[in-house]
Amino acid sequence: MDLAAIGTDVERVIVSEIDLQKRIKDLAAQVTSDYKDRDLLLVGVLKGAIMAMADLSRNMQRHVDMDWMAVSSYGSGTKSSGVVRILKDLDRDITGREVLIVEDIVDTGLTLSWLKSNLESRGAKSVEILSILRKPTAAKVEVSVKYVGFDIPPDFVVGYGLDFNEKYRNLPFIGVLAKHMYS
Ligand code: 5GP
Repeated sequence: MDLAAIGTDVERVIVSEIDLQKRIKDLAAQVTSDYKDRDLLLVGVLKGAIMAMADLSRNMQRHVDMDWMAVSSYGSGTKSSGVVRILKDLDRDITGREVLIVEDIVDTGLTLSWLKSNLESRGAKSVEILSILRKPTAAKVEVSVKYVGFDIPPDFVVGYGLDFNEKYRNLPFIGVLAKHMYS
């Protein structure tokens, strides 16, 4: 779906489709090189990471295993509290595996911080994080994101897997949702 098809729902595009695809290619090359001669299991966080996982994995010049988790974080109102519930767990045991978590966005970082320790506690050999987007708030939490696509402003964004009420995931770019959509 392109910008013309959604009218005024998106206030402005902050990462274009061209820039996204270029950065994904760079990230895929970097991961391919860092994990040379190593095992690699990509763990995508549903549903936001679907596009990133599809594009990233297709740009990797090596075999990769893929698995998926779905989590929901609880908090008061719109604030994440770091209390996380697993809605869908991994299909396979990850003991001894080299895991790369693929995520759409790091906001407070609480969800990823919880997920990283959860996967480490299962005996993974290594657990690193790749996130397409990072908001400034992420700096407040002690979670190291090894690979970041773009640092973005603290606005609510949609597209490339990110939704608002389950919509806009199929936009090929990242845009700021117009205020009139949620006020
Ligand atoms: P946190 O890092 O605060 O624990 O939570 C990250 C999750 O919050 C993301 O996986 C995503 O689901 C949601 N989130 C945070 N910022 C945004 C945003 O700007 N747009 C959308 N659609 N979701 C967001």
